[in-house]
Amino acid sequence: MALTGLEIFKLLPKTNCKKCGMPTCLAFAMQLAQKRAKLEDCPCVSEEAKQALAAAAAPPMRLVTFGSGDNEVQIGQETVMFRHEEKFYNPTALAVTVSDKLSGEALKARIDSINAMQFERVGVQIGVKAIAVVNDSGSPETFASAAATVKDSSSLALILCTDSPQAAAAGVAKTAQAVPLIASAKAETAEEMAKIANENNCPLVAKAESIENLVELSEKITAHGVEDIILCFEGLSLRDQLYNLSRMRTLALKKVFRPLGYPTLSCVSDGETDQQAAVGTSLICKYANIVVVDTTEPYAFLPMLTGAMNIYSDPQKPVQVEPKVYAIGEPDNNSPLIFTTNFSLTYYTVESDVEASRVPTHILVVDTEGTSVLTAYSGDKLNEKAVANAMTKNNVESLVKHHRLVIPGYVAVMSGKLEETTGWEIMVGPRESSMLPKYLQEVWK
Ligand code: SF4
Repeated sequence: MALTGLEIFKLLPKTNCKKCGMPTCLAFAMQLAQKRAKLEDCPCVSEEAKQALAAAAAPPMRLVTFGSGDNEVQIGQETVMFRHEEKFYNPTALAVTVSDKLSGEALKARIDSINAMQFERVGVQIGVKAIAVVNDSGSPETFASAAATVKDSSSLALILCTDSPQAAAAGVAKTAQAVPLIASAKAETAEEMAKIANENNCPLVAKAESIENLVELSEKITAHGVEDIILCFEGLSLRDQLYNLSRMRTLALKKVFRPLGYPTLSCVSDGETDQQAAVGTSLICKYANIVVVDTTEPYAFLPMLTGAMNIYSDPQKPVQVEPKVYAIGEPDNNSPLIFTTNFSLTYYTVESDVEASRVPTHILVVDTEGTSVLTAYSGDKLNEKAVANAMTKNNVESLVKHHRLVIPGYVAVMSGKLEETTGWEIMVGPRESSMLPKYLQEVWK
């Protein structure tokens, strides 16, 4: 169990030297107990105390990693129940099943369709993170062969889904380099599965029907030396899963109950595509860290991926694009130059409307700390000085020879000052971005 602030305080040097940034050791101890400080922030703590405090200093939910290289998947290490309390850290990873009963062209086609499940949303790549090979055949050899084919045909992370230790051992033997996630150990196979995970440095899923059984199982697995564990419920309805996932998150974070301090995996293999999308999205909201589905319909992934992206974005930081000049089409030095702000939604709305106009255009993105045009203007983040600075920094003089800048209609009021500051001719564009195609085609000349 977690140590209280006073218990931690007893182990600290009690010199109140302030090197940790806190006025007293007691204040530091209280912050540490609430997971708001790191033990490393105190340079004076003894080795002996470090060991005693290790449990208190560890995050309430373990970070678990699987996969390798650029497609390594990290999940867990969440510290809050609700996004607005701080933020969620590691987005839910989506995985898609591949049955080991598939072979040849059918297997390859399935893998290719999963590999293609990648999308761009407001400038960010989102997509499926892992392939879950399922031991439907019951044969360790067939399972190992399918796992090897997936490993060779995809750079996505790998999940080996089998309840058989023999099949798990055979699958890992062919794919250990890819650091697969082994799914799953049950009460009766915990020892054997833990041995395979340990020998190959792979994380292990613990699967049981209830929270109580998961506690027992995770303790059993850690007793066999495996620390990277993922928890999974077996045979529960969606309602019971959501209820138990929430309870588990509460116990892990609020009570710092270590046997449940691990990320979770949920399988959504039943039902039509629409149902899988709905169930998967619900599980992402409450609190699945990996969701495994068996559809490859792109439309099913968009709500799940968009949901995960939104929930796991930092609520205190608007999604931003890099402030610079973006070329839409192949603009030259006679093409229009327009500006907008670096709030992602604003930029991508403007970008798609400019694209629709088919008029090659330079878009100058001004850094307004991720706020939209009117918000930035009213907060004085968008003014003639900010625009002039962005023009200088991006050397727009060298981009166009007409010295005309189109500004958003909503900030027409700044046109006079901007003209004075820059010496450029300021053209007031439309208020709504949707009017840009008409404006660029008919007004800009
Ligand atoms: Fe106490 Fe360590 Fe902070 Fe110094 S740095 S005040 S010893 S907790």
